[in-house]
Formats: sequence, C-alpha cells, structure tokens
Amino acid sequence: MLDIAIIGSGPAGLSAAINGVIRNKEVKVFGTDPEKSSYLRKAEKIDNYLGMPGISGEEMIRKFVEHAKEMGVQFHSGRVIQIFQMDDYFTLNVENEFIDAKTIILANGIVNEKAIEGETEFLGRGVSYCATCDGPLYRGKTAVLVGDSEAAEEDVNYLAEVCEKVYYVPLHKKTEKVDSRVEVIHDKPVAIEGEETVKTLKLKDNEELNVNGVFIIKDTVPTTQLLQGIEIVDKAIKVNQYMETNLKGVYAAGDCTGRPFQVAKAVGQGTTAALQAVSYLHKNS
Ligand SMILES: Cc1cc2nc3c(=O)[nH]c(=O)nc-3n(C[C@H](O)[C@H](O)[C@H](O)COP(=O)(O)OP(=O)(O)OC[C@H]3O[C@@H](n4cnc5c(N)ncnc54)[C@H](O)[C@@H]3O)c2cc1C
Repeated sequence: MLDIAIIGSGPAGLSAAINGVIRNKEVKVFGTDPEKSSYLRKAEKIDNYLGMPGISGEEMIRKFVEHAKEMGVQFHSGRVIQIFQMDDYFTLNVENEFIDAKTIILANGIVNEKAIEGETEFLGRGVSYCATCDGPLYRGKTAVLVGDSEAAEEDVNYLAEVCEKVYYVPLHKKTEKVDSRVEVIHDKPVAIEGEETVKTLKLKDNEELNVNGVFIIKDTVPTTQLLQGIEIVDKAIKVNQYMETNLKGVYAAGDCTGRPFQVAKAVGQGTTAALQAVSYLHKNS
C-alpha cells in the first residue's frame, strides 16, 4: 500500500512528490506525461518564478520532471478514473488498475467540471470515462467516443476492435491515427439521452447518434466524479491553509485549489500538502 498517491504530474504534484520522498514515504505520481498535459507547457516565457528568469514552460516542466526522477520519485502513467474511499485508506482506479494508498494529494490542475447534459445522470449506465475498463461491455454494440486529445485515438481504435460500430467525435483538430472502421464526426456533443441506459448522443449540427455507450475521454476527470464527497467552491477544491480538504487524508494543491494560477503557488502548496500528509501518516500509524 502506498503512503501517498499523488494525482497529477504538474508542478504541484511533482513538488509534493519530492517532499514525500525526502520524508521517506512510499509515494507515487499518477498522470499522463506532464510535458504533454501540464498547463505549464503552454507558457512561452516565465519571468516570475524565482531563479529561472526567461525560462519557457516546456523547459521548466522538463527540469521539474528530471529533478523528481533524480530524487527517486516513481511515476505511474495513466489517468485516475475514480478514487474510492475505504475505511482508513483509498483505492484508485487507474484505467482499470486498482491501487491502494493511505493518503491522497489531488494536484489535477484546472478541470473542466462542465459536463455534457446527461453525462452525470448516465455515468455507469452507458457513460464511461475509461475505454479499457468498460470497452468489453460494448462488445458487438454501438458506441461513440468523445475525446479531447490525440491520446483518445488509442481508445477509439481499441473500441473499433470490440464494438460493432464506433463513432468518434473529436474535440480537437488532428485525427490522423484513427482506424478506418471508425466514423469520425466533427461536431459538438450537446446531450446524452436514454431511459434506464443511454440511447442517443445529440449533436449540435448533425443528426443524433443512436448508441449503447458514450465514452468521454479527456485528460482530466471532473473532480466531483473522481472523488465523491469532495467539497468544491467556485470551481475549486476547498482547502484550508494546510491544504486539507473536507475529507480526512485527502489534500489538494496547485491550480485545482483556485486562483492565482501560478507555478510558485502550486509548488508551495504541493510542499505543504506533502508535509501535512506525512504528519497525518505519523499520527495514524
Ligand atoms: C499560456 C500559459 C501561461 C502561463 N504563464 C505562467 C507564468 O508566466 N508564470 C506562472 O507562474 N504560471 C504561469 N502559468 C500557469 C501555470 O502553468 C500553472 O499555474 C501550473 O502549471 C499549475 O500547476 P499544477 O500542477 O497545479 O497543474 P498542471 O500543471 O495543469 O498539472 C496538472 C496535471 O494533472 C493531470 N491530471 C488531471 N486530472 C488527472 C487525472 N484524473 N488523472 C491523472 N492525471 C490528471 C493533468 O493532465 C496535468 O498533467 C501559465 C499557464 C498558461 C496556460
């Protein structure tokens, strides 16, 4: 069992991780490659982080990752789909791998909590955030995948192997590596409808699609779906000065806790969250 599971490999998560490792805890960072997913990669030039004037966001995140690896931080590549709260520990579903941890640090950055109409209502009844986990349930059936990055294309190609018919609604422009069996539709999903289970995905411009399943594959998962019961205020995870959330053993750091969206704040909060998790582990061991 891990001492600390960190969700997100941006500056907040990496800062938390090195501090956890320094304090000799069993720590793992869960996330996709930060050089492709952290918001920091988009920053052309950063002048307000102490000691690194003029650095690009790409170079900065590369340095952070290098530092973490040199310190022995372990990475687990993949999206965390859901965190289950057990009696005195947590179980993470990382794209169908289940991993236990005593504490959690949420460092998942800015998450678009805005769901498609019907998304939350039909979650687990035809809506899924994970093709590897739920793809086999749609063997011989019709599914649509809504994806916001090239990474989603691996999933849509997998569904093409399993399902009778697969539609793909990409929310980004490039769709180069898509299996020829997949029907690509460039449109905006507006509503998921059904009865007991999903029946249709409504699109803005095209006709609605009759489907059995809707896969929503984005880099992030809405935090309220990720961890049931987490308190969100003004689109941010509510924390106190120790980075404690409303749930015991769960901490949050970085952009996911709200403004200001700044690297220095993310790094500082990551440190605080890790040290607080360490103190919690000592009190509860
Ligand atoms: C264009 C631009 C310019 C900027 N300029 C500056 C600047 O000059 N100075 C400054 O200080 N800041 C700047 N920022 C802000 C800075 O990039 C952020 O404040 C910083 O990256 C926040 O770090 P974070 O770790 O909280 O989040 P992020 O860096 O966004 O990292 C979050 C990570 O969590 C991952 N994640 C999310 N959900 C899951 C999940 N369910 N499972 C696994 N992984 C998950 C994401 O994929 C991502 O890798 C800029 C941002 C942008 C976009």
